Amino acid sequence: MARIVMKFGGTSMAGIERIRHVADLVKREAERGNQVAVVVSAMAGETDRLVQLCREASSLYDRREYDVVVASGEQVTSGLLAITLQGMGVNARSYMGWQLPIHTSTAHAAALIDRIDAKVLEKIFDDGGVAVIPGFQGVTEEGHVTTLGRGGSDTSAVAIAAAVKADRCDIYTDVDGVYTTDPRIVPRARKLPIVTYEEMLELASVGAKVLQTRSVGLAMRENMPIQVLSSFDDRPGTMVVGDDAIEDKTMERQLITGIAYDKNEARITLTELPDRPGTVAAIFTPLAEANINVDMIVQSTPRAGERADLTFTVPKAALAHTTDVLEKIKDEIGYQDLLANTNVCKVSVVGVGMRTNAGVAAQMFQALAARGINILAITTSEIKVTVLIDEEYTELAVRVLHTAYGLDAEEEAAE
Ligand code: ADP
Ligand code: ASP
Ligand code: MG
Repeated sequence: MARIVMKFGGTSMAGIERIRHVADLVKREAERGNQVAVVVSAMAGETDRLVQLCREASSLYDRREYDVVVASGEQVTSGLLAITLQGMGVNARSYMGWQLPIHTSTAHAAALIDRIDAKVLEKIFDDGGVAVIPGFQGVTEEGHVTTLGRGGSDTSAVAIAAAVKADRCDIYTDVDGVYTTDPRIVPRARKLPIVTYEEMLELASVGAKVLQTRSVGLAMRENMPIQVLSSFDDRPGTMVVGDDAIEDKTMERQLITGIAYDKNEARITLTELPDRPGTVAAIFTPLAEANINVDMIVQSTPRAGERADLTFTVPKAALAHTTDVLEKIKDEIGYQDLLANTNVCKVSVVGVGMRTNAGVAAQMFQALAARGINILAITTSEIKVTVLIDEEYTELAVRVLHTAYGLDAEEEAAE
């Protein structure tokens, strides 16, 4: 008997017919004699719709109320799945984040899970029941509903798996595994049968949204094996595991694991900043206090006595809050203009082989230059190179790089 947490994404939960299919998969797993807890997302498109309603109500919406609104999508699907399972004779019940409870920080819209009380779940397992838990949501010590940031149901699932010491966390989605890049834009992307936490963490952090980054970081810390698989077919998926679990050490010779892109960032430039100690701190401290995640940062190097320009990226969803914070501190900082551009995309090449191989970045810049794609900003880490480009070149850039690093499969990936 194994203990398994099964998580179903938005496409898998989109409508009663699909929920019925999910219920079949859950029942099948339970009938194999396994203990099962289920984590669900809202129906595909529902969270976007709820976010849009908040924006229409006010562009500078209160994040606590935003959480009240957007957490509701998962409440609906967890109730519907529990009803469907009960109809099939499965002893299922839904448990909201506040009922378990899933305790989180107070950072509304981007809350961190502090701890999950496993007592309720252990009791359900003992009674042979199936708990259906809405992903994405939690509760603060004061009892306010929180959400974990977009794509957060993956993190809910891994956190619950860790809390109940599950044998595995199965993430069911609309593709049958982790690919060398998004198979929806590169049909020749290759499925990775196995990928390390470290590589998956980098891929996710630069946009491979098949798993939320935080879920991979948590799985790595807890050494929780994740399986990514499709709820629509029975093909084997991708195992995300620790380095030590990989027996085929030839993987080490693979230079590049994959290419990822992220269209969710906006570029901000502050022009003519005073070149003195403390300027950058005075900009980023209030942004951090407002819980705004800054990603790429590039500063021009001014000649003596001149002023500097500072460019950085923030999530598009945080743009209104960011400009609001920056406008309030304009006089204190003394910048000239605030320029915002949402038509940008981050494209990244990831691979542990980069540590020992020179020339990966140069190859990337050459491949992009050959197609006339201009680079707006660059960042690197030990195992990734990221460039910021004009959004309209995203698909072209990803395809060109996928080919340039020899990642194309012979055959197109099956749908
Ligand atoms: P869910 O609703 O199940 O959480 P998501 O939309 O969050 O699903 O994530 C699945 C999507 O991730 C796929 O449909 C695919 O387009 C995208 N994706 C991006 N990069 C990759 C990758 N490297 N491998 C697989 N899927 C990827
Ligand atoms: N429904 C949430 C979202 O769309 C959480 C999730 O599906 O993971 O971001
Ligand atoms: Mg997702």
